[in-house]
Amino acid sequence: MTESNTYMYALLWTCSVCGYMKEGGQPKMECPTCASYKTSFVSFPQHLEKEIREVFPDIPPNHKDARAKRMALIAEHDVKKKSTLAGRILPAASGNAMDN
Ligand SMILES: [Zn+2]
Repeated sequence: MTESNTYMYALLWTCSVCGYMKEGGQPKMECPTCASYKTSFVSFPQHLEKEIREVFPDIPPNHKDARAKRMALIAEHDVKKKSTLAGRILPAASGNAMDN
């Protein structure tokens, strides 16, 4: 059993305002849940997402309880300060995807 790499997501883009999560690719132009602009998205650490899935195995990733837990973990682990990825990829996100 390995503790990491259980999920093979490229990136877990998470809205730092409401906790909405999108797997892989690039952040959405705006959050479908709270309409925050994409710069609100941070890349959420996979080991923290694993924690959420273990606490809530039976609900979808964007269920309000999972989002609330994600928000708590973002605050607890200072994810916003550590991740500025969404801001950095702005030019690429508005044009061609850079990972194709
Ligand atoms: Zn949001």
